[in-house]
Amino acid sequence: MENQIRKKIQNSKRIVIKVGTSTLTYANGNLNFSLMNKLAWIMSDLINQGKEVILVSSGAIGVGSKKLNFKTRPTEIREKQAAAAVGQVQLMHIYQNFLGEYGQSVAQILLTKDDFKEGERKTNTNNTLETLLSFGVVPIINANDTISTFEIEFSDNDRLSASVASLLKADLLIILTDIDALYTANPKTHPEAKRIPYVEKVTDEILGMGGEKGSEFSVGGMETKLLAARECYDNGVMMAILDGSNPSFIGDLISGEDIGTVFDCK
Ligand code: GLU
Repeated sequence: MENQIRKKIQNSKRIVIKVGTSTLTYANGNLNFSLMNKLAWIMSDLINQGKEVILVSSGAIGVGSKKLNFKTRPTEIREKQAAAAVGQVQLMHIYQNFLGEYGQSVAQILLTKDDFKEGERKTNTNNTLETLLSFGVVPIINANDTISTFEIEFSDNDRLSASVASLLKADLLIILTDIDALYTANPKTHPEAKRIPYVEKVTDEILGMGGEKGSEFSVGGMETKLLAARECYDNGVMMAILDGSNPSFIGDLISGEDIGTVFDCK
């Protein structure tokens, strides 16, 4: 079964990549340009192979907080919203520059949970994304943090990326993070923990394996990734948890290498 899914991953045509704040930034909150450049390079290479790539990127609040001289991620909602508005511009500017270097055009899409409810907004979201992909443009998606408090308070981009992948009937969602896979226990505190290379079914037992949060500039932990895996599983999208520290791992995963944790789907 595991060999079969690695083969299916190799054949994936439509791929959503999610990158989180702790992967995009150094511990001091500054953006890691070298990583963003490599990410742009590997995404462009996948597109050159004939694949479609959609990026779900966090980082707006982290980057904006830094720019607005907050010492840590702000706690007041309106401060987070202001930080998101400032940081989103900077993020997109950098993505546009790096992806532009490799010949790609980018588009910004900011979404809220309401955009995934059945109805006009969901249809519009889908139509716009499909049209952008048909034009060969790389959609770069984030939560619309400046207009919605729900996203900031309760939601997270792991779940958002799963909803995007499900909406677009993607073949694969790759969640880049600061841990290289799902483990039998938290490897930071349990050195004997073993990597789980393959999850056939996202059961309640698997969901129970969620861990703690990342750095002080980011939200989300393993728990939200597993909830994303469940959403993908139910919607026929394969998912992978992958070490984000080197975006080349994306290429290795798609070449069929046994890295990360891959989750099969219905
Ligand atoms: N949308 C938030 C941001 O851009 C991040 C949410 C998340 O990391 O899950 O900062």
